[in-house]
Amino acid sequence: GDVLTARDLYRFYRAGEEETLALRGVSLRVRRGETLAVTGPSGSGKSTLLACLAGLDEPEGGVVHVAGERLSHRPEADRARIRARRIGILLQSGNLLAHLDLRANIRLAHTAARTPRPTPSALLDQVGLHGRGAALPRELAGGELARAGLAVALANDPDVLLADEPTGELDGTTEQRILELLRERAHNGAAVLLVTHSAEVVRIADRVIALRDGRSLP
Ligand code: ADP
Ligand code: ADP
Repeated sequence: GDVLTARDLYRFYRAGEEETLALRGVSLRVRRGETLAVTGPSGSGKSTLLACLAGLDEPEGGVVHVAGERLSHRPEADRARIRARRIGILLQSGNLLAHLDLRANIRLAHTAARTPRPTPSALLDQVGLHGRGAALPRELAGGELARAGLAVALANDPDVLLADEPTGELDGTTEQRILELLRERAHNGAAVLLVTHSAEVVRIADRVIALRDGRSLP
């Protein structure tokens, strides 16, 4: 069934007199095992949508459900609990803490996970970073950093994996490796949602929705 659903999401930003309607009635659903790509030009609402789906931001209107639980319009502590147990997030800004090595970064994401959870070294093996657990984020090259971010996003064995430009500035080989891992995750039963400009990423998705001015095009 549906693991991730969003119904009629509205999000307004106010800055003084200025008001931006970032989302104007976006609905979507992602089933277990399915990969959905979200495309759209800069400013169309992709990042805002992702933040609302992750419970990092609250929409003014509409509702988000994750694995049958309502995520939106709840206290931050509830959203944080659901996020920690159910959701893996790969943001463009990176999801690694700079002063912790990879093993510690993965352990941190473990804390609220349901058991059994993959060990840090198993996760690092999965993303092709065998034996790099003691490395600091700054010691990694771009492609390695992206893979380490994915290891952290997968550390809680998430039902829902949300990724913003997961293959952003990677070379072709690393991009293929990341796409393979995302697809594998969906095959293992997760709902995967990818915000992207990449035709390669769109190609591996089961479905695509396009955003324009905060609306999804039919
Ligand atoms: P992208 O197309 O990759 O989402 P953007 O440049 O649109 O990149 O946005 C980058 C970040 O800046 C986002 O996190 C977004 O929330 C924030 N942002 C975008 N527009 C504004 C704005 N007008 N005021 C404040 N923050 C903004
Ligand atoms: P995208 O990710 O597709 O580039 P965003 O979700 O970042 O789109 O932005 C959607 C709209 O909301 C844009 O018009 C952007 O300028 C505006 N926006 C995004 N974040 C903020 C913010 N924090 N404050 C004010 N406006 C914002």
